[in-house]
Amino acid sequence: MSNKPDERLDRRDFMIASVATLGASAGLVAKAPSASAEGSTQNAAGPASATIYTGDVIQGRKVVSALDIHDLEPGKKHHLYFQGVEMPTGQHWYVSVTVAKGARPGMRVVLISGVHGDEMSSVHTVQTVMNGLDPGEMSGTVMAVTDVSRPAMEGMQRRWPNAGRGADLIDMNREWPGNENGLTAPSRHAGLLFNRLLRPNADAAIDFHTGTTGFEVTAFNIAGMDVPEVKAMVELYPVSQIFDNHVYPGVLHNAFMDVGIPAFTPEIGAARVLDLDMIALFVEGTMNVLKHHGIVAGPMGRTGKEVSVFVGNSAFPILATEGGIVEHLVKLNDKVKPGQKLAIQRDSFGDVVAEYTSGVAGEVTGQRSDAMAEPGNPLVFILFHKDAPDRGETYPE
Ligand SMILES: [Zn+2]
Repeated sequence: MSNKPDERLDRRDFMIASVATLGASAGLVAKAPSASAEGSTQNAAGPASATIYTGDVIQGRKVVSALDIHDLEPGKKHHLYFQGVEMPTGQHWYVSVTVAKGARPGMRVVLISGVHGDEMSSVHTVQTVMNGLDPGEMSGTVMAVTDVSRPAMEGMQRRWPNAGRGADLIDMNREWPGNENGLTAPSRHAGLLFNRLLRPNADAAIDFHTGTTGFEVTAFNIAGMDVPEVKAMVELYPVSQIFDNHVYPGVLHNAFMDVGIPAFTPEIGAARVLDLDMIALFVEGTMNVLKHHGIVAGPMGRTGKEVSVFVGNSAFPILATEGGIVEHLVKLNDKVKPGQKLAIQRDSFGDVVAEYTSGVAGEVTGQRSDAMAEPGNPLVFILFHKDAPDRGETYPE
C-alpha cells in the first residue's frame, strides 16, 4: 500500500483523463460476441436481456457471455461456463455457473463464492446447497457461481494477481459493480459478471466468504438489518453472530443492494480449510432462505431462534503495535469486557513486549491465526454495539 494517497489519486485521475480522451476520439467499443448468438444482441454496457452462447464448449460445458435463466429448460440443472475477462495471453477466465431451474416459475436466488480465492468453506457451502436441490420439485431458480476470481483461486490466495504495473494484487471485493471499460482486468471482469450474469438473474443474492489467510473468523453474517428483506433472510441462519452494518462501497453484496436486490455476506470460519461444522449451519440457513422465498418446499430447519445470537453494529480492531509472536488469551465467540487482556506478544528473546486489551464490551469475531505479527496487523476484532455505528473499513471483508 502506498503511503502517499495524493500521489496515487493524481495518477489515477490522469489515467481516467487519458481514457476519456481516447473514448471521445476513437470510441470505446465493447467487443461483440465472437460466435453464434442465440437470442438478440444486447447493449454492451447494460444488463443482459438474453442468453448469448459463444459457440465454445469447454470440458463438455457450453460457454455463455450473457445469461438469462428464463432461456434455460425448466426442471433441470444446467452447468455452464461464463466467459469473463481475457488473460494477457488472450484466453478468457471462465467462471463456473450452476443453475437449478425449477419446474415452476418463482423467485430467483443467486449464491456466490470465490470472490476471494482462499475461502474454501464458502465454495463448499454453495456446492452443498446446489447438490441438495431437486429442480423437478422447485418453484423458482437458484444460480450458483463458485469461482468468481479464477486466478486468485488457482493460487488459493485472497487477491487477483493482475498484470498491471508488474504484478498487482487486486482485492475483487473492492471492485463491484465493476466496469466493463475499467482500468484493470479485474474491474472489467466484475463488470461483465455483474451486468451479464449476476444482476439480471437475481431477486436476492448471498455472497459467501470466510476469514482470510492468517486471520480466522467465527461464523457470522454481515448485513444491513434495517432492510426488512435482508433481516428476514439473515434471521433464518442458526448462526450466533450478526454484524449489522452496511460496511462500504465496492463489496459485492452492496452492489446488489445499490440496485435494489436484497443481499448479504455470510462469513464461515477460517480461510484455506473446510470447516464442515460451520458449513452445515450455513447450508441449513440457506435452505431456510430458499423455503422462505417459496423456491423449495418443506419445514424450516433451525434458525436464529434456536441459537443465542449476538448482534453488533461495529467492529473494534486491535492492531499490533510491536513485532513478535502473539499469544491469544481468549477464543472466538468469547464475551469480553473493556480493559480485559486479550493477547500478549513476545520478542525474539521471549520478553513480553506488548499486552493487548479490549476497549469495548462485546464478542470476539476474529483473531489473527498466524502467530507472527508486525506493527499494524489486526490481532483481534471485537463485535460490539455503538449508538452511532462505524462506517468504513473497520472489518476488512
Ligand atoms: Zn472474503
